[in-house]
Amino acid sequence: MSIRIKLLLSYTGMLVISLLVFVLTASLFTIAATGDIHGIRDFYKVHYQINPLTEEEESIFLELKYLAKNEPDELQNKELLSEYDFKLRTVRAGLYVRRDNDQIFESNTMNQPELEANLPPYDLNNHQIRNTLNIGERFYAYAKYDFRYSDGARGSVYVIRERSPFGEVTRKLLPILVLSLVGIVVVANVLLYRWITRSVVKPLDLLRKSAEHIKEGNLQFSLDLHSKDEIGQLNETFENMRKRLHESIQLRLQDEENRKELISNISHDLRTPITNIKGYIEGIRDGVADTPEKMDKYVNIIYTKTTDLDKLVNELFLYSKLDLKQVPFMFEHVDIIGFIDDCIDEQRYVLEEKGIRLEWKERTGQSVEVIADLEKLKRTVLNIIENAQKFMDKQDKTICVSTQLSPEWVTVEIRDNGMGIEPEAIPYIFERFYRAEPSRNSSTGGSGLGLAIASQIIEGHGGTIWVESEPGIGTSLYFTLKRATKEAV
Ligand code: ADP
Repeated sequence: MSIRIKLLLSYTGMLVISLLVFVLTASLFTIAATGDIHGIRDFYKVHYQINPLTEEEESIFLELKYLAKNEPDELQNKELLSEYDFKLRTVRAGLYVRRDNDQIFESNTMNQPELEANLPPYDLNNHQIRNTLNIGERFYAYAKYDFRYSDGARGSVYVIRERSPFGEVTRKLLPILVLSLVGIVVVANVLLYRWITRSVVKPLDLLRKSAEHIKEGNLQFSLDLHSKDEIGQLNETFENMRKRLHESIQLRLQDEENRKELISNISHDLRTPITNIKGYIEGIRDGVADTPEKMDKYVNIIYTKTTDLDKLVNELFLYSKLDLKQVPFMFEHVDIIGFIDDCIDEQRYVLEEKGIRLEWKERTGQSVEVIADLEKLKRTVLNIIENAQKFMDKQDKTICVSTQLSPEWVTVEIRDNGMGIEPEAIPYIFERFYRAEPSRNSSTGGSGLGLAIASQIIEGHGGTIWVESEPGIGTSLYFTLKRATKEAV
């Protein structure tokens, strides 16, 4: 059974129960008040007819009734009647006595000229002692007793009390009021039912449809439900789950794409030197290298190509291990100044041979400790210096190394006055296999992995690496390393 049907049944059930309870209460009340159950319709009439007067008025009326029965002529005694009237006035009622067609006594509190004309005719059997009457807009409740004076003339004694018109209106409109109350209960139930279905069933329906979308593999939608209740929270969790799922699928697709690209790049990069080596070996086999000089040249080329291939495979291996986080970092306290000194000493001779001047803005005597994996850091610096010399196009070739210190970080800058990098290539140079302008790079024989490896290493150190470059002027490669504090490592 759906929630909607369950709600409908429970609300209808509640409605029926409340109406039954309403009817039952009214019936019980009627029985308790009248001792009879001729119908709820009669309840208010009976109640009013039985109790038109208050208890005090009623007791005065009973005294008057007793007089009428036993000493009727006393009800012509104006003095006595005035006394009774006084008593009645204190409880806000009035007295009226008539004899045949004459009025014997009328309370001056009544102030109702039409009263006499509206009183009921004589009924010596006194069938209806208590009743109500309307005169114009005013409404009266009374108790009366008809009797005969000793001379046989008919007489009536009335104890009359003016009632609030509101009470009368209520009495007249009671059926309508009861119907309106029942109507209010029904309408309230219908509205509550609609409200609950809207706030519960509808969002659940939306949630079900969304789950179906996900089942069909469609994750590009969003659930915009703003309610803050439990269903709202459920929707929020569901929406978060959808986002996560969407992200992870996107990531998987991206990974897949990267994997394909990697395989294609590797095959391409391996094929070129292998094709070259194969070509030269075929040349030797076919006797093209027919002189010892030619043979020497061919063998040298094959050797260089094999070395390149070896370097490429090693770089690839390192990169993939770094990427898979399979290379452990052996962190230790390293004096970065001493470390750069060593690197510079190592490279100076090779670079000077190529006509490149290596400047090192050393901070003499100052030792600055960082936390680093020495071997990997060296790899980074060498990769950057290698690039700086590879892309050098000036006559006066300079590579300048410097450091900047902050309380927490050391920034190392390696600046060259080479060809620079076009601004549009800058965001990609740390990506694997990326070479800005491949034609320009073909002579350099780079794998496109040098900066990708450097970036992996620096990130592994918790630092950052970035580049600033001006085409035609030069390039600065920066990386940061965390300074060692006493507690660290
Ligand atoms: P490669 O093996 O091609 O040098 P890298 O990842 O080390 O690969 O560098 C990526 C690309 O960034 C290079 O191909 C080159 O186009 C550009 N590049 C890197 N360093 C420099 C530099 N110092 N001057 C000019 N271009 C550079």
